[in-house]
Amino acid sequence: MDRDELARSLDKFFGQAGDRDSDVQSRVLRLLASLPRCSSKVVIAHAGHAADFQCRLVGDATSLAPWAEHHAKAVLSVDRDDQAARSAFPAWLATADPADVRLSFVPQAMYNAYRDYVPDILSKGLVQADCPECGRSFRTEEITRTELDKRKSGKTTWWTSEWHCPSGHLLYRKDHEIRFF
Ligand SMILES: [Zn+2]
Repeated sequence: MDRDELARSLDKFFGQAGDRDSDVQSRVLRLLASLPRCSSKVVIAHAGHAADFQCRLVGDATSLAPWAEHHAKAVLSVDRDDQAARSAFPAWLATADPADVRLSFVPQAMYNAYRDYVPDILSKGLVQADCPECGRSFRTEEITRTELDKRKSGKTTWWTSEWHCPSGHLLYRKDHEIRFF
């Protein structure tokens, strides 16, 4: 990414925010400077990010940008690298080259900052799931999402989430555990 693009992205997100944490801003700058320019198609989750994914979730940078911008403003973390990665995500998407139709893979640090929200991104229809078995992609409404094996012991609840394509191939599987205090 060249300096002008970087400056424009940062102006957009930090322009009037004189009270923002300058240490976080410098981490955002370093992260963005280390990345290639974003392309028009973005892989927001795949097996390289987390073993839960058998599929690749792919969305348009322009569709994902408003969600990413909202997420960066709505969710705060005390971890400065995590916060920087969350703020850098919309700035990186804003640099997307619409003529570049290759896939961009979100770097792991950015993925980590929104990983709990991937089901939300899918629910909003912002991504499609590429099924490796079918060799084609499916929209949110074509994907069957189920929660199974729900059990409870004392204050702890466990369950498993699974997503399947219309042909029944597994796209995602995650075990959850929540303890209430
Ligand atoms: Zn399939």
